[in-house]
Amino acid sequence: MHPTEILLSNEQIQKRVAELAAEIRRDFPDDVHLVAVLKGAFIFLSDLVRNMTGPVSLDFMALSSYAKGTTSSGEVRLLKDLDTTLDGKNVVIIEDIVDTGLTLLYLQDILRARNPKVLRSACLLSKPSRRQVDVKVEYVGFTIDDCFVVGYGLDYAEQYRNLRHIAVVGS
Ligand code: 5GP
Repeated sequence: MHPTEILLSNEQIQKRVAELAAEIRRDFPDDVHLVAVLKGAFIFLSDLVRNMTGPVSLDFMALSSYAKGTTSSGEVRLLKDLDTTLDGKNVVIIEDIVDTGLTLLYLQDILRARNPKVLRSACLLSKPSRRQVDVKVEYVGFTIDDCFVVGYGLDYAEQYRNLRHIAVVGS
């Protein structure tokens, strides 16, 4: 498995991430609390916050989706919980990619139970053709076809997270 074709260049990603940051800031001008999902969203999150001026706080969660190779088994397990409460906060979940939607739906359910004032979701990439559940995502960077991608935080077997672009993995 090697990354072959470049799907999104670093320039395309940077432009879109700046637009998403501006949208989130416009919707939450006073304060916003971003909850990023490790590990895949770490670069997306860091570029997002660097494009936002004004108050913004962060926290991290880690989930295991029991992924086998390039397909998800649909089971989700919480590996690392948040450090702080969400009570009364404007919360935006930051995900790398929404595929079947099972991970994000699970996250939305457990975070909604913690009484945030507002709960929204942002993803850099979305594969709508793969969706198994109806999950709402307010901020979507790019809609892509059904292919396995790496780079810009996304891995294959823990490699390729350091690529500045997003590439499709072929065999
Ligand atoms: P879902 O629960 O929506 O099926 O899967 C979400 C998770 O599966 C993502 O957060 C990501 O970790 C992983 N995933 C889904 N599609 C891809 C992909 O094309 N590339 C990589 N690297 N991970 C993916």
